[in-house]
Amino acid sequence: MGTRMPALFVGHGNPMNALSDNDWTRAWVTLGARLPRPRAVLAISAHWYLPATRVTVSPAPRTIHDFGGFPRELFAVRYPAPGDPALAARVQHLLAPLPVGADTAWGLDHGTWSVLCHLYAQADVPVVQLSIDETRAPQFHYEIGMRLRALRDEGILILGSGDIVHNLHTYSWGAHPREPYDWALRFEQDVRRRLEAGDTAALVNYLASGNDAQLSVPTPEHYLPLLYALGASFPGEPVSFPVTGMDGGSVSMLSVRFG
Ligand code: ZN
Repeated sequence: MGTRMPALFVGHGNPMNALSDNDWTRAWVTLGARLPRPRAVLAISAHWYLPATRVTVSPAPRTIHDFGGFPRELFAVRYPAPGDPALAARVQHLLAPLPVGADTAWGLDHGTWSVLCHLYAQADVPVVQLSIDETRAPQFHYEIGMRLRALRDEGILILGSGDIVHNLHTYSWGAHPREPYDWALRFEQDVRRRLEAGDTAALVNYLASGNDAQLSVPTPEHYLPLLYALGASFPGEPVSFPVTGMDGGSVSMLSVRFG
């Protein structure tokens, strides 16, 4: 058995981070250098959210620019990492009898490539994406993570990409930094404490946190990738936060490393 890979959740924030050189992107570069080198990445991105569980099977996944209103340079970004059809088949096997569709249409969306272009700038680590089934409750996503845990002993980096706090209604898009909202800081702090305490039930049932959760997670797709990484963690494993901070008042950049 080789090195057990950590499981990771990354707060990806603004798509422009792909082109930026800031505290967060520098922390991603450092993180990529510190992680054991993976054989491949299995990414669960907030931006592949549809009523099914699907896995990308293309040997050469395309770079998807799944946003509007950003500068031309961002649409020019390509992240030409190879796919890994054998890993996709392994994921289907691990999740059976759950039907996991073999997808040739999707590729790498910005939740994946805006982070990986800093973690692995050479695009030389194969990448497979797994979709998030929008029809399922949080517990389902946590359990999928559990069933993927074995991949960590096969050289696979499980990478959830979302934002623990993601409220674009209150997000400040301007150039001037905005102080984080109190509710955003409180919710993020609650999540950190629960991660450190191994309080899985509270992390899965995050909406029970009331108003702070409603404001921080107005829609589930940016929070759920955390549950995949959490599910892939081993009981009692060390938890650390290699990247911290809040962007624009209401987008958490917190990264979580298990193991
Ligand atoms: Zn996003």
